[in-house]
Amino acid sequence: MNDKETKRETKNFIEQAIEADLRDGRFQDVNTRFPPEPNGYLHIGHAKSICLNFGLAKSHAGKCNLRFDDTNPVKEDNEYVEAIKEDIKWLGFDWDSLHYASDYFDQLYLWAEKLIESGDAYVCDLSAEEMREYRGTLTEPGRNSPYRDRKPEENLELFQRMKAGDFPDGAKSLRAKIEMTSPNINMRDPVMYRILRANHHRTGDTWCIYPTYDWTHGQSDSIENISFSICTLEFENHRPLYNWFCQKLGIHHPRQIEFAKLKLSSLLVGKRFMLRLVKEGHVNGWDDPRMPTLSGYRRRGYTPESIRNFCTDVGVAKFNSTIDIIRLENSVREHLNKIAPRRMVVLDPVKLTITNWPEGKVDHTDAINNPEQPEDGRRSVPFSGTLLIERDDFKEEAPRKFFRLKKGGSVRLRAGYIIDCHDVIKDADGNITEILCTYDPETRSGSDTSGRKVKGTIHWVSKEHAEEIEVRLYDRLFTTENPGASEEGKSYLDCLNPESLTTVTGYAEPEIRNHDVGQQIQYERIGYFVVDQDTTAEQMVMNRIVPLRDTWGKMEAKGKTN
Ligand code: ATP
Ligand code: MG
Repeated sequence: MNDKETKRETKNFIEQAIEADLRDGRFQDVNTRFPPEPNGYLHIGHAKSICLNFGLAKSHAGKCNLRFDDTNPVKEDNEYVEAIKEDIKWLGFDWDSLHYASDYFDQLYLWAEKLIESGDAYVCDLSAEEMREYRGTLTEPGRNSPYRDRKPEENLELFQRMKAGDFPDGAKSLRAKIEMTSPNINMRDPVMYRILRANHHRTGDTWCIYPTYDWTHGQSDSIENISFSICTLEFENHRPLYNWFCQKLGIHHPRQIEFAKLKLSSLLVGKRFMLRLVKEGHVNGWDDPRMPTLSGYRRRGYTPESIRNFCTDVGVAKFNSTIDIIRLENSVREHLNKIAPRRMVVLDPVKLTITNWPEGKVDHTDAINNPEQPEDGRRSVPFSGTLLIERDDFKEEAPRKFFRLKKGGSVRLRAGYIIDCHDVIKDADGNITEILCTYDPETRSGSDTSGRKVKGTIHWVSKEHAEEIEVRLYDRLFTTENPGASEEGKSYLDCLNPESLTTVTGYAEPEIRNHDVGQQIQYERIGYFVVDQDTTAEQMVMNRIVPLRDTWGKMEAKGKTN
């Protein structure tokens, strides 16, 4: 991988902590894991965690596992497991081994018995609501459960009966016996197991008790010999509990380190939000090109490199902040500028006739595929007497600084000739239907002998050679910077951008047909586009990835959003 990651020099706080531990001999290896819950598709925030975990292992010659944190059977599904694997591979990473927390259910059960025997866990009969009441608040200590002093033998028997299905859902739970007056609420006798009759996507109906996240995560890390368990800030207050379980069990004890979640302006990445957008049909599925999911970005035409580079650029932080979405968009622009072949495509055409062009003649002009990559070679573009140009590249009367085409003015056609406009034809409503020009035969690109200079260059296609393609102009899904924090009584659904998708017909030079699904292309002077999977033998479909320049920033400056 020729990424920024390999070039970066300063160490972030996680790397510094790791290196200190390696120096002190607390750990010999840097083993990490990426632990998604299979309850939705991966999003751009996950990409950051993936880059971090896989990146740290790689740079220290350690291992990084993929572990599905599947302790919540109600929301999880195998569809998500498969999608997550595909997305990680697409992003350019491969796990050392694949695990499921559910593989450890037997071991976790045995460890729970061990804590019961040592007097560190007990079966509690409080209902969920009572438990909440006993737990206290941030300012008030909790109270001991009346079941807290059950003897280990009784607890063991009750726990075995919980597993055997003797009690209804929610009737009992297994709790760690820690400290109901702890200032950290997570330490107030947290639940380890709940009774839940739910079919699990891997263990089926084997279990009617399920371990909680807290009781599962650290022990799973320990079993896999993870040294650094990297997670996001909301787990900082769970760290004492993570440590308590490992210490009580006397097992390998990984170090949990937290960093701030990635948050991007104008996006909503929580699976909860995304699931609703998908379920209610506000978008066309998890891989809709407007979604902040990795599968959405893939279909939108983002490259894995551009996402990895973005993750490196934003770095890791200890405090929450919002990153401007423009940085992600610029990252994809930067990469595509290097790799995307250039093609001419007209999205809003007006006819241009060259009145001195020899009838029926077709010239094959020569254009460079990518000025950033001369080795990508050249292509020929058919040029004829009837062309299409962008409507807004022409003005009948234009200000002095309008360097495109105007009546009485001249412009260069990219990889073509200089043309001079002498007239226009209009319909009854005064709309221009045809632009009349002459061409200057001396000015053919590549063999211009005229010495003429013009200020502007515009793109064009030959009308009879143009390939009509369906172009999906994707734009931001939300119109506000922070769709998650809407005003009272409004939800993020009220900020959906009604113009997040507009479909137009594009007229492309014939070369466009030679590109496969997933190929990114720069439409000259317009933006980056990708061939969509909906393309058929008859109809090519392309998605806009990003315009060449940021248009939102400009609109905001003019106060037009909102
Ligand atoms: P969400 O509900 O947004 O999908 P999550 O934290 O519930 O987030 P998990 O599947 O549990 O999602 O996360 C897997 C890993 O990815 C965890 O280590 C989690 O901390 C990390 N992660 C999730 N969201 C982000 C984010 N926005 N930025 C960085 N890491 C994240
Ligand atoms: Mg979650």
